[in-house]
Amino acid sequence: MSLILKFVKYYRPHIKLFILDISCAFCIAGLDLLFPLFSRAILNEYIPEKNMQALLVTAVIMLSLYLIRSVLNYIVYYWGHIVGVRIEYDMRNKLFSHLQTLDISFFDGSRVGKLMSRLINDLNTISELAHHGPEDVFISVVMLFGSFLILIRIEWRLTLVLFAFIPIMLFFALKKGSVMRAKFRDVREKIAVVNAQIENSLSGIRVAKAFTNERFEQEKFDEGNFTFRMSKTRAYKTMAEFYTGINLFMNLLTLITIILGGYFVYIDAMSYGDLVAFILYTNFFLDPIKRLTNFTEQFQDGMSGFERFNDLLSIEPKIKDTDAAKNLDQIEGNISIDNVSFYYADDEKNKVLSNVNIQIQAGKTIALVGPSGGGKTTLCHLIPRFYDVSEGEIRIDGENIKNITIKSLRSHVGLVQQSVFLFTGTIKDNILYGNIDATDEEVIAAAKNASIHDFIISLPNGYDTYIGERGIKLSGGQQQRLSIARVFLKNPPILILDEATSAL
Ligand code: ADP
Ligand code: MG
Repeated sequence: MSLILKFVKYYRPHIKLFILDISCAFCIAGLDLLFPLFSRAILNEYIPEKNMQALLVTAVIMLSLYLIRSVLNYIVYYWGHIVGVRIEYDMRNKLFSHLQTLDISFFDGSRVGKLMSRLINDLNTISELAHHGPEDVFISVVMLFGSFLILIRIEWRLTLVLFAFIPIMLFFALKKGSVMRAKFRDVREKIAVVNAQIENSLSGIRVAKAFTNERFEQEKFDEGNFTFRMSKTRAYKTMAEFYTGINLFMNLLTLITIILGGYFVYIDAMSYGDLVAFILYTNFFLDPIKRLTNFTEQFQDGMSGFERFNDLLSIEPKIKDTDAAKNLDQIEGNISIDNVSFYYADDEKNKVLSNVNIQIQAGKTIALVGPSGGGKTTLCHLIPRFYDVSEGEIRIDGENIKNITIKSLRSHVGLVQQSVFLFTGTIKDNILYGNIDATDEEVIAAAKNASIHDFIISLPNGYDTYIGERGIKLSGGQQQRLSIARVFLKNPPILILDEATSAL
C-alpha cells in the first residue's frame, strides 16, 4: 500500500494533465454508453412512426457526438501518454542522478546490464501503468455499471442472465491472463540470458578464435537459445488458450442475447429496438474485460518494476561528507598512511591490506612494488576515498581525509587507473574531461607532456578525431597516454599512477 502511495506522488507535478486525461476518458465512456440508445430510439420510434425529421436530427446529434468523441479520444491518446512519458522522464532522471551518488563498492557488486534494464525496461512498464492503469479501471467501471443501469430498465431478466456471465468471463480472463503473464516473464528472462551470452561470446571472440573454441561457443549458445525457444513455445500455447477462451465466451454471450432476447421479443416483452440495443451493449463488454485483464498485467509488472526502482533509490552511499567535513582549497600534499588495514565489504577474514604505514612528503615520488593481487590498486583507491579504510587512518597535510569534503579531496588527487576508460567522443573531449574549462593551449600542452601530441596531429581530424565504437581504434599504449594527458590537464598536487605505463 505504501508503495502505491509512493507511486501516486509522481503524479503530483502533472496532476492537471492527469485530471484532463481521466475526465476525457470518463466522457468517452459516457458517450459510448449513449450511442446504442440512439439506435434503439430510431428502431423503436422514428422508423415505425416514419418520422424522417427525428431521424435526421438524431443523425446530426450523433455526428456531433462522434466529432466530440474524436477530440476527446485525441486528448486521451496524446496527453494521456504524455503524462506517462513525463513521469517516466522524472523517474529516470531521479534514478540516474541517484546512481551518480553511489559508492564504487556498489558498482563492484552490480552488473551494468542489470542497471540498464532498471533504467530502461522497468521504467517503461511503469510509464505504461502510470497512464493506462487509472484510465483502464475508470473506463471499465463506467462502462460495466452504466450498461447495467441502462439494460436493467429495458429487460431486467435478460440483463441479469448476461451479467451473470461477466464474473465468470472475468475470472477466466484474470486466471489465464496471469498464467500467460508468468510464461511471458519467463520468456523475457530467457532472452536476457541469450543476450548476455551473445555479448560475452562476441566480446571474447578473439580469445575463442585463438583457442579454436568456436564449436564450444556454438554449443554453449545453442543451449540457451533452445531453452528460449521452449519457453516461447509454452508462452504461445497459453496465449492461444487465453484468446480462444475469451472469443468463445464472447460468442456465447451474443448467442444468449439473440436466443433469449428473441424469446422476449416473441412474447412481446421487448421490441426489436431493445434487442438491437442489447446486442450492441454486449458487444462492448469485451472492452472492459480486456481492459481489466490488461490492467492487472500492467499493475503487477509496473509495481514490481517500481519496487525495484525504489529499492535502488533507497540505497544510501556509505561514503559521504560528514557535517564537519572541511573544504580544502589548497593543499601541500603530505600524505601519511597510518596503520591502515583494509578488507572489501563483508569479507572481514580476507584482509587485503594489514597495518600499512607509509609517509609521503609533498614533492616526493614514491613507487610501490608488489605481486599481482598484492593490494597496490586497492591502496591507490583508498586515497581519494573510493573505499574507506577498515582500520587506521589516512591523512593529508595532517587532516584525516574523512574530515575533508569528497569534492575537494578528489579535486586534489589525480588518478590514472590501471584499466583505462575513454568516453565516446573526440580525443579533445576525453582530455578535457580532466578540466572541462581548460583552453585549447592547455589541452595541447597536456598532450605534449604525455607524449601523445605528435600522434594526435598526425590524424586527419587531429584533436577532433572520434574514438570509440564508430571512431578510430587506439592502441593500449595510446589509450594510456590519453588518460595521462587527462590527468596532467587536471594538474593535481597529488598524482597517483596505477601501473599507468604498463602498456607504454
Ligand atoms: P594489485 O593492484 O596489487 O594487483 P589489487 O589491489 O587490485 O591488487 O587486489 C588486491 C586483492 O583485493 C586481490 O586479492 C583482489 O582479488 C581483491 N579485490 C580487488 N578489488 C576488489 C573488489 N572490488 N572487491 C573485492 N575484492 C577485490
Ligand atoms: Mg593493480
